[in-house]
Amino acid sequence: MEKTTHIAVVPSPGFSHLVPIIEFSKRFIHLHPDFHVTCIIPTLGSPPTSSKAYLQSLPSNIHSIFLPPISEDAIPKDIYVGKKIQLTITNSLPSLLDELKSLTSKAPLAAIVADPFAFEVLDFAKDLKTLSFMYFSVSALALSFFLHFPKLDQQVSGEYRDLKEPIQLPGCIPLHGSDLPNPVQDRSSPVYKEYVDRARRLGSVDGILVNSFREMEEGPIRALEEGARSGGNPPVHLVGPITQTGSNSESECMIWLEKQPPNSVLYVSFGSGGTLSQHQINELAFGLEMSEKKFLWVVRAPSNSTGAAYLGSSTNEDPLKFLPEGFIERTKEQGLVIPSWAPQIPILGHSSTAAFLTHCGWNSVLESIHNGVPMITWPLFAEQRMNSFMLTNGLRVGVRPKANDDGIVERDEIAKVIRRLMEGEESEEIRRRVENLRDSAVNAVKDHGSSTKAMAEVAHKWKSFSGI
Ligand code: UDP
Repeated sequence: MEKTTHIAVVPSPGFSHLVPIIEFSKRFIHLHPDFHVTCIIPTLGSPPTSSKAYLQSLPSNIHSIFLPPISEDAIPKDIYVGKKIQLTITNSLPSLLDELKSLTSKAPLAAIVADPFAFEVLDFAKDLKTLSFMYFSVSALALSFFLHFPKLDQQVSGEYRDLKEPIQLPGCIPLHGSDLPNPVQDRSSPVYKEYVDRARRLGSVDGILVNSFREMEEGPIRALEEGARSGGNPPVHLVGPITQTGSNSESECMIWLEKQPPNSVLYVSFGSGGTLSQHQINELAFGLEMSEKKFLWVVRAPSNSTGAAYLGSSTNEDPLKFLPEGFIERTKEQGLVIPSWAPQIPILGHSSTAAFLTHCGWNSVLESIHNGVPMITWPLFAEQRMNSFMLTNGLRVGVRPKANDDGIVERDEIAKVIRRLMEGEESEEIRRRVENLRDSAVNAVKDHGSSTKAMAEVAHKWKSFSGI
């Protein structure tokens, strides 16, 4: 019998950070059943019910442990979500180290795999005589930016959004400074300095696993591979696309979708916590109505901050009461609104779904590509503007509506973009391109596909390190 190789994976707090690293672990274990994964989970407040439910169906060689939760009172209330996540990790380091020590006392650990917010745990790797790996559940473009960022910080003075010339990252399409991630948009903020520090530390890990595949991001991937060969960045393993496998649900929206004509519905969702202002909700509602296309909209209560519903910080108010008066009644033949959460994977896989209006979270992007669904890109925060740029200007599998000077996307523009994506010649070209990309995504995870080979390389590295 083959000996078991042990690894530990560490997500950052929150359901949407847990899922990617567990999905990676599930696929890895499926391909390499002679491994055992322990997932050590830091939490802020009590663990979310969604996370507990999700962890119930893990295979026997993935074991999960919730660390003692960090009290919400220990974290300042008025800081942005990323900082809350970061502080939860920092405060969890002593208990994380205890768990890791307890694991290594039973069997050698080949690697610690952390998500980017949990990078501090990788500082323990050397002392515990194990490899340090990062699981980067976003794009290779974002990784390329992150690795290049310390250099950019030295080269550029002033705010990136004020640069006249676009920013040229290795192998990437030129990006406008305003499309860079939110935390780097204010250079005088402490968040900025933390971001530079995190980026520097990323350069010293033993390897980076990226949830992407070549056909999606040819340029940045080639540059990252060259960087690894020349010692400019750590080795990069393209293990993607990894997406959740959803079960068919019997929910109201699936029953409604069943009754719609094939290829007719626009699915509208802003990820697990994205929020719009009241003004923007009104414009979106009227825009959907004016487009006269079928829609399925996951509605959240309004907020003036774009990520208000992350880390359980949402209100308990019924989101549907924030829709314009009479909207639900007027559109009852045209669309369906669902409060807060919908089964996204089966929706995107359904033959009635024609297009996806998305906030461009990387999981949503990959899920859409995996199902060959073209996108209306509506980035809200984090690296989502970069994803949107890649989808609209690089791969040309989506279109982005224009916002007015106040940052509001108006109803006419929304209706126009919906029609542009859902009817006419251009929409067919976009569909053809996204279907080609879907075929490449499907091939990547086949037996001899690029993702499967990358997983085998990683397994070999980890086994060789632990001498198995
Ligand atoms: N999701 C879902 N139903 C919803 C909203 C989101 O199932 O109503 C899932 C979606 O399928 C994806 C994840 O939540 O897997 C969202 O991840 P993404 O990276 O797109 O965005 P984030 O939530 O991190 O902003």
